[in-house]
This record gives sequence, structure tokens and C-alpha cells, in this order.
Amino acid sequence: MEERLRIAIQKSGRLSEGSIDLLKSCGLKISRGKDKLYGRVQEMPIDVLLLRDDDIPEFVADDACDIGIVGQNVFEEERLAEAQETPALEVKPLGFARCKLMLAAPKEWTFDGAAMLEGKRIATSYPGLTKAWLEREGVSARVVTMKGSVEVAPRLKIADAVCDIVSTGATLDANGLKPVAMVFESEALLIRNAKNFSAAKQAIFDALMKRINGVLTSKDAKYVMMNAPREAIAAITEFLPGADAPTVLDLAGSPDKVAIHAVCRESVFWDTLEQLKKLGASAILVLPIEKMMV
Ligand code: ATP
Ligand code: ZN
Repeated sequence: MEERLRIAIQKSGRLSEGSIDLLKSCGLKISRGKDKLYGRVQEMPIDVLLLRDDDIPEFVADDACDIGIVGQNVFEEERLAEAQETPALEVKPLGFARCKLMLAAPKEWTFDGAAMLEGKRIATSYPGLTKAWLEREGVSARVVTMKGSVEVAPRLKIADAVCDIVSTGATLDANGLKPVAMVFESEALLIRNAKNFSAAKQAIFDALMKRINGVLTSKDAKYVMMNAPREAIAAITEFLPGADAPTVLDLAGSPDKVAIHAVCRESVFWDTLEQLKKLGASAILVLPIEKMMV
């Protein structure tokens, strides 16, 4: 039987779109019907399991899946709870589903540091991360674990403060709370089972990783072209964000000027272009890069 790599991603929620987009950018299309928990990829021997995000670390740790995409917040929380004997291993942060786990307190508090929380009750769905933070801050507080609707806890007098994922802060605001301290910063994370893969599975994994790395490195990468005075080559090369040695070409009929072409691995902003102009560059073009294999 042909070996297939099994990847677990979130079925629907804030990780789903990014996970599916990443696979798409790797040239993989998932064929699945609505509500199906299982998808198949045609282009490579890969199967996709669509799960609740909370189940992903365990599925990957248990060998039910080989790799998975989950929030660092959930992964770290499970690790702290020592929920699995042999936890999954971190492979790579993926740069999407960025969010913050924040401590939030009633608006009327004048928050002047973690010491204020001494002896207070804090409601959260992330008891492990919250306790670890309190310990780092040297504060002893009581942590009340709630599965959902954490932000209503202070109004219900279940807790004095909360520790929750915050994006816009609108939910907190509507509940009379304000974020006061950052507890954990998270983004999507690629994880894998801790055991060695078979040779066939390892080969699929390596091929997929090559594509994922290509997608991640080309995401902010741009191809930048400009004309510049010959004497400015060194200054411009030094300035270009994350560029290797650029290509320098003669310009017909202008012995003092050259064309400079470079792949910039980091974001190119308007500021960057203005700076290049100051260094003498003209006719600057910034082009997107669709694919890159390094
Ligand atoms: P499930 O039904 O799969 O259990 P859920 O309701 O627990 O879903 P989501 O709200 O979809 O989870 O969030 C999934 C993950 O996305 C979170 O664990 C976190 O890593 C990340 N996340 C949460 N909120 C945001 C946000 N506002 N912006 C970006 N990423 C977020
Ligand atoms: Zn969940």
C-alpha cells in the first residue's frame, strides 16, 4: 500500500483559512465534501484530517496524524498540562493566525503591575499559560478555568480579572474590561509526531517542507530593479533589505549609470524606495515573486 503523510488542520475557525491557503500555495488542493472530516490531496501522497484545533496536538502526539497545524497557544497549553506522554515536536512557526493572550482587568482598575493581582481570581481557558506567567511575575493568584465566555466572569463575580485571547479588544470593552498585560504571543505552528517516519513518509515530509519553506521565504520577497549611478552601487547594495549580491548591468549609452536587480527577502516599504532615491536610484520597480526555491 502506498504510504501517505497525514496532516491535521482545523476544520473551521481562525486557523482554517491560513492552513488551507498554505497548502494551496504549496500546490496542493484538498478535495473534500462539505462537513467531511477527511480530505485527499491529488498532487502529493498526503491526506488531510479536519479537526477541532484543541484535538490537533493530541492526534499528532499519538501518531493518528504525522504532522499538524495548531496555534502556539494551544500547543504550549497542552505541553504545560503534560497531557501527552510523548508530546508532538515543534517544526516551524508559520506566520499566520497571530494573536495575543492578554490579562484583562476591569476598566476602573488603575493597573500598575502584576503585583496588583496578588490574591485575586483570574478566569481563563489557558490555566497553564496563565499560571506560568503569574509564576514568572512572582504573583500568587487563583486561576479559575473556564472553557468559554471567559470575559463575562468578572461581571458574574466568578473572577476579578481574566486572561484571554484578544484581537480587537471589542469583546473586552463590551464587558467593561481592558487589556493590561501581555501573557503569551502566538502564531500558527507546524508540529510533527516525535517518532522517526518511515523512509517513504520522510521523503514526502521533506518534499512538503521544501515547498513550505519556499512559500514562507517568498512571502515578503520582492524583485527590485532600478537604475543608479555607478558610484552608488555599494551604498545601495548595503541598504537593500535582506538581499544577496545583486545583479549589476551596464546601461547602453550611459557609462556612469547601471541597472541594479536584486531579490529582497524582507518587506520593501515606501520608506525603502524613498531612501533608495536619496542614494541616487531612479526608475525603481518592485515586482512580486510567485515562487522561490532556495
Ligand atoms: P475549534 O472549534 O476548532 O475548537 P476555537 O473556537 O477553539 O475552534 P478559533 O477561535 O477558531 O478556535 O481559534 C483557533 C486559533 O486561532 C486560536 O487557538 C489562536 O491560536 C488563533 N486565534 C484566535 N483568535 C485569533 C484572532 N483574533 N486572530 C488570529 N488568530 C486567532
Ligand atoms: Zn478550540
